[in-house]
Amino acid sequence: MDKKVYLDISRGKPSKQQVDLSLKMMDVLSSSSNYIDDNGFDVRNYGELLGISEARELMGDILGLDKENVIVYGNSSLQIMYDQISRSYTHGVCGSTPWCKLPKVKWICLVPGYDRHFAICEHFGIEMISVELGKDGPDMDKIEELIKDPSVKGLWAVPKYSNPSGISYSDEVIKRLANLHPSASDFRIYYDNAYALHNIDEDEAILNIFDEAKKVGNEDIVYMFTSTSKISFPGGGIAALGASKKNIEDIQKQLRIQTIGFDKINQLRHVRYFRDLDGIKSHMEKHRAILKPKFDVVYSYLDSLGDLIEYSKPKGGYFVTIKVRGVAKEVVNRCLGLGLKLTEAGATHPYHNDSSNSYIRIAPTYLGLDELHQAMKIIVQAVKEETK
Ligand code: PLP
Repeated sequence: MDKKVYLDISRGKPSKQQVDLSLKMMDVLSSSSNYIDDNGFDVRNYGELLGISEARELMGDILGLDKENVIVYGNSSLQIMYDQISRSYTHGVCGSTPWCKLPKVKWICLVPGYDRHFAICEHFGIEMISVELGKDGPDMDKIEELIKDPSVKGLWAVPKYSNPSGISYSDEVIKRLANLHPSASDFRIYYDNAYALHNIDEDEAILNIFDEAKKVGNEDIVYMFTSTSKISFPGGGIAALGASKKNIEDIQKQLRIQTIGFDKINQLRHVRYFRDLDGIKSHMEKHRAILKPKFDVVYSYLDSLGDLIEYSKPKGGYFVTIKVRGVAKEVVNRCLGLGLKLTEAGATHPYHNDSSNSYIRIAPTYLGLDELHQAMKIIVQAVKEETK
């Protein structure tokens, strides 16, 4: 095998072919366009702190929420999550004590999970508690026990096509999450629905947590997040937060100090291009057509490894996770030596501490098919050598 080849499948990025799908969005606004939004505001000027009405409606449709429950921000949902934690830290949640004044703040992290979520907690000195994520979602018995501790203030959840295992939460799990009654009144589920519409196979629909929580008067428990990063452009899309009226009011009070408003021109561009949820869904079919053959390539090589590894075949999302018992670091290093960069071993766990040294995340979306074949050959070779 050619040792000079340098392939990178460490991050979940769409390919050039995928971002090209949205390029015509650049043409929907021109100097002769109408820049007035549905509420009569000129999007080229200040105003509309919570986002333009039609973008709130569109992002609300993705999240399954009314537009009144949605704020459309800038280009990144991760930034919204960071800001939420930062505000909770400095100013508290709906009038509660700011977390910086508390002796200890703890957080529930589902493993395997998304490294950038964990990095935010680490950055704020929040103590992370790992809870196993199974095939249907997290171990709910464990979570229900942990939330009795008032210093536990939150939980990361990626409910559909989770990063990185690709699993989706069962109805029972979502109902139990919606029914959580933590000791801390400022506890929130950070429900990151980054892959809401990102099918590779048939859609694995999940229950609407907000509706479930509302049924029992518990809708303040959840903040929902999503973005068009992997629908239109990563870093050039639009991102949104969904929450109860009380939470939206609390956030709005602080948001108006932070900004006069986000990029409404980009919001309008997205709405004019996609029009509505059906427009986004048919656009996502084009993504699926590009991605499905790539995931099939990954599976064909992984299948050839038999019981040397454990893995599941997600129906959507951006990742495949394999478990190589006790040799994850060694496999990742060997791949690097062979010219392939994988996500660092341990990244799937808080503090980079995968005590089982087993989890490896594969992000197959960015490479072309030929390169992906090369990458998978390297993985197969490395796993075979390290498990000899
Ligand atoms: N949330 C999850 C679960 C992700 O996997 C990613 C990107 O990989 C993000 C958030 C980042 O989203 P954004 O580009 O909207 O900040």
